[in-house]
Amino acid sequence: MRAEPLAVPDVDPRPERVIRGLGVSTGIILGPAHVIESGFHNVPEYLVAPAEIDAERMRFADAVAKSIKQLKKLKAKTASLPEEAAEEVNFLLDAHCAILSGSRLVRGVERRIADERANAEYAVQAELQAIAKQFADMDDAYLASRIQDIKEVGARLIRNLTDRKFQAFSTLPEGSIIVAEELTPADTALMDPKLVAGFATTLGGAEGHTAIMARSLGIPAVLGVAGLLQGVQSGDRIIVDGSTGRVIVNPGREAMTDYERRRAAQEADREQLKSLIKLPARTRDLVDIGLQANLELPREVDLATGVAADGVGLLRTEFMFMNREDLPGEDEQYALLKTIVEGMGGRPVTLRTIDVGGEKLASSLTSHIAESANPALGLRAIRLSLREPKLLEVQLAAMLRAGAHGPTRILLPMITSVSEVRRVRAIFERVARRLKRRKVRMANPLPPLGVMIEVPGAALAADALAQACDFFAIGTNDLIMYTLAIDRGDEQVAHLFDPLHPAVVRLIQFTAEAALRARIPVSVCGEMAGEPRYTALLIGLGIRELSMAPSKLLAVKRRVRTVDTIAASHRARMMVDQSDSGRIAALLDDFNDVG
Ligand code: PEP
Ligand code: MG
Repeated sequence: MRAEPLAVPDVDPRPERVIRGLGVSTGIILGPAHVIESGFHNVPEYLVAPAEIDAERMRFADAVAKSIKQLKKLKAKTASLPEEAAEEVNFLLDAHCAILSGSRLVRGVERRIADERANAEYAVQAELQAIAKQFADMDDAYLASRIQDIKEVGARLIRNLTDRKFQAFSTLPEGSIIVAEELTPADTALMDPKLVAGFATTLGGAEGHTAIMARSLGIPAVLGVAGLLQGVQSGDRIIVDGSTGRVIVNPGREAMTDYERRRAAQEADREQLKSLIKLPARTRDLVDIGLQANLELPREVDLATGVAADGVGLLRTEFMFMNREDLPGEDEQYALLKTIVEGMGGRPVTLRTIDVGGEKLASSLTSHIAESANPALGLRAIRLSLREPKLLEVQLAAMLRAGAHGPTRILLPMITSVSEVRRVRAIFERVARRLKRRKVRMANPLPPLGVMIEVPGAALAADALAQACDFFAIGTNDLIMYTLAIDRGDEQVAHLFDPLHPAVVRLIQFTAEAALRARIPVSVCGEMAGEPRYTALLIGLGIRELSMAPSKLLAVKRRVRTVDTIAASHRARMMVDQSDSGRIAALLDDFNDVG
């Protein structure tokens, strides 16, 4: 249940500010803003060994470079702001960039690392304190405002040095709305929907994992909001409208009335959807469509069973590796997976091996993945698992053991070739033999081994892959990203992320037909599956299983129940013949309007 926002006075006398971003998780919420300041808490302090001093200086130089890159990205975003605001923000960001380019702060930190053997984070903190003291002694208002800039830059440096993104949100007042420059999926995983009513950030795209996590937890969110942090303070009243992508700071009377109206409509819709929980996801011509849940965290099991999901179509096991420094062992993974399998009460659970790398970073695995110029094309997902077979063996053993407690399937992310599947299968069978020898309880028979189709090459090789595996799950998030060369987490190109691009539609069709020919199940578990707008298209392309955030399931069921599969496949055939996504969209929307 979403926490109600704090009681707030009717209208705020301060000027209202409306800013726009990408609505990535639907729902509208009003509450007090909690601005995440980049703080200086628990800055690590240690002496660097003499032989490590050069490496420490490099580490600091990397953090400086990363900070400049972030500031440039923020600067690029100001283009969408009104001229005056853009000028002001640009001035500020330029000042921050200047501080990072050989200023006293940077020189001072370098000196402290070299002469005092201070670790970089501590050196930043110590230098900041020294500068602040000097400025304070000068008693000059202009310099006092400059120190704030320097502190902000220092905080950014420390954040980038420690990479300590995970924020504990446990002490927030109930109903808070988090406002931040950026939140990682790992940050979002720590949010308790009872305390965090919504969030808004300057950076982030609609298909990135922070957005996915927000949808899963049912927390309204707006990402990619240019100029968000200028002019909002902790405690300000703020409306986050995850449906329209609007953020309103200090809403006036009109905005409040609109908020009340939209919130009432949202509640009414939610109530109406609840009446579907017990009804089957059956089309008008009586074809059953399996509606399953995507889970990112164990606590979502209740959300999935609450909407009567047919099972878990995708368990992203990355959560086990986030917000920690050490790797989880087989027993720990087994215990976590067992809870989820048991929690689903006999409904099948699809366990995906880890998919870290790219934008999904897990703190415990950072030492296993070197920095890459193109992380999404680098050591990600199954590539990491195959390079570090020990990791994979531990995961597969835990999964096989969890399979003793209910029906499971095992799913492999980012597969591009048959040989990868064969290599995993060989390891899988070896692990199973070992468990058997040890007389450990495990799934019997062995669970089906499936592959994600999320790389265009895999979709085009679907016929061959279908011979090597037991089921397909189409990951449209990555499939669209790789097909159209659009970074799914980058708000700057979010408008180009197009599920209805002819190439995407054809790749889904191609995959579905290959699965059909090989008589293996095929589902869609990317975000497209959770959008009622696409339901008829996917059904028309032959998909009979959809897996999505639990918060989306009932709206999709409502659409399924109005679809006629024959008409949908007829319309889908027309759509795949189009060469233009605008035309495909028109054909789809027209079909959706009619029924
Ligand atoms: C996808 O790519 O569509 C998918 C479901 O996997 P993930 O979002 O975890 O990359
Ligand atoms: Mg994917």
